[in-house]
Amino acid sequence: MRIPELKRRLREAGAGPSHEHRILRLWSHALPRDSGKRRPESFFPSSLLAALPSIEADLAGLARIHAVHPGADGSERLLVALADGQTVESVLLPRDGLCVSSQVGCAVGCQFCMTGRDGLLRQLGSAEIIAQVALARARRPVRKVVFMGMGEPAHNLDNVMEAIDLLGTVGNIGHKNLVFSTVGDERSFERLHQQRVRPALALSLHTTKAELRRRLLPRAPNMAPEELVAACERYARTTGYPIQYQWTLLEGVNDGEEEIEGIVRLLSGKYGVLNMIPFNAVDGVAFSRPSWERCEQMARTLHQRGILTKLRYSAGQDVDGGCGQLRARAAEIRVPLRRAEDRR
Ligand code: SF4
Repeated sequence: MRIPELKRRLREAGAGPSHEHRILRLWSHALPRDSGKRRPESFFPSSLLAALPSIEADLAGLARIHAVHPGADGSERLLVALADGQTVESVLLPRDGLCVSSQVGCAVGCQFCMTGRDGLLRQLGSAEIIAQVALARARRPVRKVVFMGMGEPAHNLDNVMEAIDLLGTVGNIGHKNLVFSTVGDERSFERLHQQRVRPALALSLHTTKAELRRRLLPRAPNMAPEELVAACERYARTTGYPIQYQWTLLEGVNDGEEEIEGIVRLLSGKYGVLNMIPFNAVDGVAFSRPSWERCEQMARTLHQRGILTKLRYSAGQDVDGGCGQLRARAAEIRVPLRRAEDRR
């Protein structure tokens, strides 16, 4: 379901702008209908009151939590089941953050990511994205939403922009606390500029070498790292939010001296921060994580050379490795169960 469709249903049931605003606000905050001072019976028209149970049931049916995997760092990985049985991941991050998914699967096919293995299975509707926030808010406060879960937001731009607009208005999330994370796409850069809610931007850079990037991110738009950084810089200067350049550290692939030189050349003087995240080992993915000493040394060298660099472990990594892994595991469990049923 998409948010415009939900708004149309509300209007057809007699909702005016203030009723619609209240329903969307309560839904995106996971609050019950009778929250606040004004009772729904005195505030909503009777036609809307009659239609609400069915609309609320449809919203509640969009997504449910299938499994919760708490991490030692305070994060929680949620495996979220959608109405058609597909599953996506959301991750509750320390300090009131939430990472949401924008697609089931992903067409970019990054070599180090489990989500890309099956390709794109389907897009998430904008209401399914908000449903992930509502599920998370039912567990704890959420003040930051990052689109870094399964999927490439630029490949589902209409739904992601609808969700960002709602979260940045009635959802009460500060615009710079909404983070659109992309492998880079000219169309989405242009579109982000034009929105009333302009999110912060994270770019999955991973290497400064165009040819290596084409191999690591085989179906990302063919933009050279220089072009990507130039487009990001324009966005950062217009919005006033620094760009988050993401770099998954892969041993022997993008952790060498040449990359350090490339990063200094590319990012010196740019309004952004480089987030280096050592790769999480994943079964069936032929990459490994550099030693912690090597990661620290790289980050320190870059710092000394004037690049604002943060070395991070990805949240919840003690639970299970990289993006998409929980979903892959659930799928593995489902297959033998289905076969057992078939035998009966
Ligand atoms: S890392 Fe992101 S863009 Fe790349 S395949 Fe995985 S989900 Fe898609």
